[in-house]
Amino acid sequence: MSRGGELFRLQEIDTRLAQDAARLAEVEARIATDPELERRRREARLRRREQAAADADLAAAEKESDGLRRRARDLDRHLYDGSVRNPQELLGMQHDLEALRRRINAEDEGLLTLMEAAEAAAEADREANAAIVDRESERAGHAGELLEQAVAMRQSVERDERDRAELSAGIAAPDLVLYERLARRVPPAVVRIQADSCGGCHIPFGGSEVRRIRVADEPVQCSGCDRIVVP
Ligand SMILES: [Zn+2]
Repeated sequence: MSRGGELFRLQEIDTRLAQDAARLAEVEARIATDPELERRRREARLRRREQAAADADLAAAEKESDGLRRRARDLDRHLYDGSVRNPQELLGMQHDLEALRRRINAEDEGLLTLMEAAEAAAEADREANAAIVDRESERAGHAGELLEQAVAMRQSVERDERDRAELSAGIAAPDLVLYERLARRVPPAVVRIQADSCGGCHIPFGGSEVRRIRVADEPVQCSGCDRIVVP
């Protein structure tokens, strides 16, 4: 294999290594955290707060309604216990009592709406918690599978690294330095010649350049983009 060919091979290993390392990182991230589970936990916290707020609204409205009923009862008792004899005063009390009863009816309708809201909030809270339990048991079921994937991925990465070490041990230091520099600056560092043009920047090569690329042992660089061009 020419020195350029070896660099091309090194690039293939590096590409595979990067892909395997990314997959490994992804599997490890899935083992450590679960965005979906986090989302469901946030959702449950929100539902819990909403449920508490709905309960508080309902309790406040019930207290208000109880107070009104107590006042109506007292007024009613006072009206008929014979302690008030002035007809004008009795009539005023009668009006007050009717007004109070109308308010109680209106409050009761509001109470009904609040009760429904509290029930709906409680149901949403239960559902949010059930969704967490579902996801957790799902994760528990997949845990073994994920661990197996992680082990396989780690083995691939180790194999890639061994391949890379073996190959690069036989590559001259200046060639390695050139490859690393180009890989950082103009990835991919090594490209194939395509129809007598550079596979990287597509600049057409003259006949002598094409011949050099085909026969040279040392890496030949494109005059347009600096990449190493191999047959
Ligand atoms: Zn080029």
